[in-house]
Amino acid sequence: MRITDKIKSNGKLSFEVFPPKTDKPLEPLLETLEKLYAFKPSFISCTYGALGSNKGRNLEVVESIQKRGVCEALSHFTCVGNSREDVLTAIAEYRSVGVENLLALRGDIPKGAKKVTGDFQHANELIEFILQNEPSLCIAAACYPEKHLLADSLERDIDMLLKKQDAGASFLMTQLCYSVENYLRFLEAARKRGVTLPIIAGILPILKPDGLVRMTLSNGCSIPKEVAALVGRYGEDEQAFRAAGHEYIVELVQTFMKADVAGIHLYTLNHFEDVAALVRDTGLSDAQ
Ligand code: FAD
Repeated sequence: MRITDKIKSNGKLSFEVFPPKTDKPLEPLLETLEKLYAFKPSFISCTYGALGSNKGRNLEVVESIQKRGVCEALSHFTCVGNSREDVLTAIAEYRSVGVENLLALRGDIPKGAKKVTGDFQHANELIEFILQNEPSLCIAAACYPEKHLLADSLERDIDMLLKKQDAGASFLMTQLCYSVENYLRFLEAARKRGVTLPIIAGILPILKPDGLVRMTLSNGCSIPKEVAALVGRYGEDEQAFRAAGHEYIVELVQTFMKADVAGIHLYTLNHFEDVAALVRDTGLSDAQ
């Protein structure tokens, strides 16, 4: 089923997991997935390692989600490292295991490399190529409430977002964003410029101070002063920091839900407990 149809029928909750490395067992993730299914998400996405790392496990993970039949699998897929032929092979593989939904991305460029290795430089080119060859697929694209770190301005980044919409993307998924104010500013600008696609907000739980700082800064995202204050106040006390971070995210999710969002996508980092507490305390799922 296309995820856009799930969005229409009000499926508000989804999760992201990442595949284990090829030499690691799949079972711990399968156990986590079983627990996540209990929340009746509309879909679960699985990341795709740039340059084909984790490629095998990505397919196994999405196959397992799709075949379990509780929700849709959404596979991330990148321009980075993929030729036209690789894309055609991957589409055939995804289709053969029943996957109908892909998140088409440029991908993270490996450290030291100057440009994308592969036949496509940008996500819009990948979206266009996939849909030319497999029009039945439902394709999502990424968007950046605080602009992509390489874009000169938010306006310029929204121009590029329009290219993804024109290429045939069916919905958008955001980069993490801890600032409601910045999210709302982006939303208004994007809608004004003609971005009409449904937007699913990606939420990264706040778990550890160093993780928070690393993830926000490496993605060019801001740390609002309320979040910076949590690091200052509770940075030395892991439990207190986690509890305060949890409270911040619960409020953030509830504010996002009141804005024009088609759903909330929780980045689980493959940890069940913290995400389960968020689902419960935000009221994101009836199935608790
Ligand atoms: P693009 O849309 O190509 O944009 C990249 C930059 O180029 C932007 O600055 C944009 O403004 C500009 N641009 C876009 N189109 C054009 C154009 N036609 N001409 C000129 N400039 C253009 N990475 C992974 O490797 N694996 C994952 O599984 C993964 N999952 C992600 C999930 C989400 C929800 C998000 C938000 C990101 C994810 N990423 C992942 C990271 C992503 O690959 C990086 O953020 C990457 O740098 C940009 O990807 P994109 O698809 O937005 O690229």
